[in-house]
Amino acid sequence: MQSTSPSTESAGSSRAHAAVLVINSGSSSLKFSLIDTATETVLAQGLAENLGGATALLHFSRTGEAKTSHPIPGAGHSQAMAAVLDHLGGIRIGAVGHRVVHGGEAFSGSVLIDEPTLAAIRQCVPLAPLHNPANLAGISAAVERFPDLPHVAVFDTAFHQTMPPKAFLYAIPHDLYDTHKVRRYGFHGTSHRFVSAEAARLLGRAPEEVQLLTAHLGNGCSACAVKNGRSVDTSMGFTPLEGLVMGTRSGDIDPNLHEFLAHTLGKSLVEITAMLNRQSGLLGISGISNDMRTLAAAAADGNDRAQLAIEVFCYRLAKGLLALAAGLDRIDALVFTGGIGEHSAAVRALTLAHLGVLRPALDESLNAAHGRASDGRITAPHSGLLALVVPTNEELVIAREAARFLS
Ligand code: ADP
Repeated sequence: MQSTSPSTESAGSSRAHAAVLVINSGSSSLKFSLIDTATETVLAQGLAENLGGATALLHFSRTGEAKTSHPIPGAGHSQAMAAVLDHLGGIRIGAVGHRVVHGGEAFSGSVLIDEPTLAAIRQCVPLAPLHNPANLAGISAAVERFPDLPHVAVFDTAFHQTMPPKAFLYAIPHDLYDTHKVRRYGFHGTSHRFVSAEAARLLGRAPEEVQLLTAHLGNGCSACAVKNGRSVDTSMGFTPLEGLVMGTRSGDIDPNLHEFLAHTLGKSLVEITAMLNRQSGLLGISGISNDMRTLAAAAADGNDRAQLAIEVFCYRLAKGLLALAAGLDRIDALVFTGGIGEHSAAVRALTLAHLGVLRPALDESLNAAHGRASDGRITAPHSGLLALVVPTNEELVIAREAARFLS
């Protein structure tokens, strides 16, 4: 493996125009993008997957060039980072932005990564035992390569730290919150924050002036009530399992289900939790797939279970949105985002059909065009509910946050 590293600038005002490397590190993967924050364009991006195994592979693409794939057998996060830097060649990097899933109650915004920040992220490991250690591995690999650059942590939970206690507390013995920080945290905060600000911009108003419902529908799904630029409630909770129906996650269930499954099927808590996280949601109902495109094709071919999965997904989304509206005084717009929210006209139409109480009037041609020709709008001018499609861009938010620490 070559050891060439991209040149990095020393501290100074010129850094404000340098590129930001955005890292999203999973337990066996490392996703990156290199973003020029002056022009807000992506210079290169890619993914190292199957880390720690013989089949570890780096997919790399520089904007304007073909995507290439390179075996990096046995590579861990550190070696993957070195391979990424080899491929980036001489591109100048001024800061590194890291996605961190759980910031607990310690972080309500992005922070420069130093020893106290690392200690606080470690303290959140019990709250996100799969995600935070993986994020820490990515941070450690990047700091090893770029010890002199500012590294900035951007938390999925931070945007939701403005939720009031009536929204974040569970109705369980209060000692569990005081002693163990058992409460609702919410996730996808970077996305809800970005699309709510974008929606305000499309409406020609400041974020502080609008009240929105945002629905981030990807493999994970969550919705958020954003009042005057602040999250006041969201559908995910202590973990990303709570709330809406997702690709493989059940979302809300009766907590007594655990006891029933343990007694009836002899399943352990670990097995039940794994089933609710990995074998449920769209996959669980359809028995076919967690992927909405596959289900849409199967439903169009007359597959009943695929149709049922989509129906439950959209009904539960509509129900979740109406529940979140309790946190608002009015709904200036409902915003769809994420892979499903941005691309599935059928899911948006079916969800609005379940929101009849808000008198939405879908414009079918604007919806079919995913709002692209109409500043995001997919409803008719006389609609009782304005619905928008706003593509999310979490990497750009992370790059912007890191760029704030450049000079
Ligand atoms: P992640 O949460 O992993 O970032 P994405 O935001 O990319 O995921 O969303 C993935 C989901 O988006 C999948 O269910 C996929 O089927 C769905 N999706 C992507 N494109 C389309 C499309 N054209 N029509 C319907 N669903 C789509």
